Amino acid sequence: MRTLVIGTGGREHAIVRALLRDPAVEEVHAAPGNAGIARDVPVHAVEAADGAAVVQLAQDLGADLVVVGPELPLVSGVADALHGAGIAVFGPTAQAAVLEGSKSFAKDVMTAAGVPTAASRTCVTENQVAAALDEFGAPHVVKDDGLAAGKGVVVTDDRDAALEHARACFAADGHVVVEEFLDGPEVSLFVLCDGRDVVPLAPAQDFKRIGDGDQGPNTGGMGAYTPLDWLPEDFTDEVVETVARPVVEEMARRGTPFSGVLYCGLAVTARGVKVIEFNVRFGDPETQSVLARLDSPLGELLLDAAQGRLGEGRHLPLRWNPSASVNVVVASEGYPESSRRGDPITGLAEAEALEGVSVLHAGTAEGSGETAGEIVAAGGRVLSVVALGKDLQQARERAYEGIGRIGLEGSQHRTDIALKAATGQISVS
Ligand code: AMP
Repeated sequence: MRTLVIGTGGREHAIVRALLRDPAVEEVHAAPGNAGIARDVPVHAVEAADGAAVVQLAQDLGADLVVVGPELPLVSGVADALHGAGIAVFGPTAQAAVLEGSKSFAKDVMTAAGVPTAASRTCVTENQVAAALDEFGAPHVVKDDGLAAGKGVVVTDDRDAALEHARACFAADGHVVVEEFLDGPEVSLFVLCDGRDVVPLAPAQDFKRIGDGDQGPNTGGMGAYTPLDWLPEDFTDEVVETVARPVVEEMARRGTPFSGVLYCGLAVTARGVKVIEFNVRFGDPETQSVLARLDSPLGELLLDAAQGRLGEGRHLPLRWNPSASVNVVVASEGYPESSRRGDPITGLAEAEALEGVSVLHAGTAEGSGETAGEIVAAGGRVLSVVALGKDLQQARERAYEGIGRIGLEGSQHRTDIALKAATGQISVS
């Protein structure tokens, strides 16, 4: 099988590495990729969101499967363009990607499908926002209706700050969703879908805030781990039956079947598991930790999903490495407000030489001029250091040992990824 992965992040690097482990996959290509992906597979200078160019590249390569990593190309119809050219694509059509592209649409689907989620109001005026804030009380949750790279949500006790965020969303021409606060640990569950059947992967937890102890602003994600031993044993089955299957059935009923990853962002509350949000693609940084443990062949699984053949159950039950996996993200100075670029990164090979450690690239590029021959920082989230260990404690130790080998001027990382889970400090009622 020849495969082409679309995107530039750590998630795409993790997908590339997992495809390379699948014996049925003969070739992996990426576009546009990053400096780390380019050291593993051929990369091609094609914009992820340029549907015609992606189709042309897939045809030139004779790709049997295209895997679209990020949400923007999906929302803008890259999967549709590939479908139109008869090329198998893992990722939803633009119409199905609206599950992520519009939070109010997602709420509507959940209501129709009877999926448990936070009560919410979609608002188009400030007065409606004020009324909804008072209806639900603090902590206030205010969301930009549209895509905001994980940064469109404000959770605050400060009513004025909540209103201010709503005003900013209106100014950006958006609708605003105000919702009830869900209290409880968060879990990400990726569910492979083929329009009809669903196959869940292992649950993971990510860390959205920039600072230790969940302090500071939200980011795209600063780390993740799996497995989540503190979850009830039937957790994944419950989410499949109460969330994923009903949503996939509702989308099919609407004539816009969902295929790709349904990323269920969940809160485990005292009143049961509830959906915080859906995404329509693999999540970054959870993917780096989840795929590190997947022993089943990813290429064949994604091809089955793309071709509507998950129901054949060729690779079920999925096989998982019993190790624990921890991903710690290295971000550049200034992230998430800005990102310092161009500094060389040292110690990459030394980190990867450690037992169980891999380094996946996100915002990296080949240096030029003074830094020619070196890899330099080129974005907010720069690297993921992913480690497998016999338990979370060992995986954490290895990941942080890896981090210790890497040098990048001004870089930041959290020191508490998976700490609570490793030390038994998370429980659910
Ligand atoms: P979202 O983009 O919808 O995932 O929101 C980003 C983050 O905001 C989530 O991961 C949660 O930490 C938080 N959040 C969103 N909605 C809620 C909610 N209803 N209750 C509590 N926290 C929320």
